[in-house]
Amino acid sequence: MSSKERRQSSIPDSVENAVWLNPDDQSVYWSQNVLDFYYGGDSQFCYSTYMGQTPLDREWWGGVLGYCGDGYMQETHVRAWCNKLIQDRETKYRRGTSSSNTFRWTILPPNFIDLLAEQDNDAYGYATGSVELYPPFWDVDTVYIPVSKEKEGWVILKIDMHSLKITVYFTNKCDALNCGERFCIHRRIHQILVEFESLFLWFLGRIQYWENAGLSEADALDYTGDVVWPTSEHRVGRNSGVILCMLLQNLVQNSVLPNWQERNMQDACMRYRRFMADQLYSARFIPH
Ligand SMILES: [Zn+2]
Repeated sequence: MSSKERRQSSIPDSVENAVWLNPDDQSVYWSQNVLDFYYGGDSQFCYSTYMGQTPLDREWWGGVLGYCGDGYMQETHVRAWCNKLIQDRETKYRRGTSSSNTFRWTILPPNFIDLLAEQDNDAYGYATGSVELYPPFWDVDTVYIPVSKEKEGWVILKIDMHSLKITVYFTNKCDALNCGERFCIHRRIHQILVEFESLFLWFLGRIQYWENAGLSEADALDYTGDVVWPTSEHRVGRNSGVILCMLLQNLVQNSVLPNWQERNMQDACMRYRRFMADQLYSARFIPH
């Protein structure tokens, strides 16, 4: 790839030296970037504020970078990225430099549907404002939910909270009728949406969404269709989770999807993985 093409890319270059989000007097002993940490770093594991008290070992970082786990993004990696985006939202909101419309969205963690299905109390915190960083549903226009049913099958559900219009974002194209994949998310999506609809409507009732939002109660979600991004014909395979993370970032930051300018998707995904890893690693901290 020529340097001209690289410059056109929307993916930032990788960093030599991490700029720590939370400098500590121990920071000088830390591996200077995520790749150094991965290849024989200063300790067996480290912590990122985006994953709280969870120790993140070499294998975890290798999963983001595409070196471990057979190249598939795990739910925990996507969760870290969601946490970063929602933390960025809060930081920008506090600075107060952007218009307030910029912040009327939330991203729920990728296990949210499971929490709903299990009627887990943890689900409520993400919707009522009782968990830090997560705005209540009645203070946002849009809710994004990343969903994975199998490691390759990532989609994003985007819900307009006023109209309950729901849009599905796919990370790959597929002719579901002729799809040879054992697990095809395109073929399953109808069933996923049917299950989600009843759980979500029940949940909105439980959090008194309609009263709190000042809206009259709806008894159905309005399915408006699919978006596929990027629109290239290539199979994304192991990169589905990476593309999902790109998609999430673009949706919440711009609300419009860029034209895919990358000639080589594999190369673009590897560079985006490094960008993600750099961002997550720069939030390294020591839990006290
Ligand atoms: Zn398929």
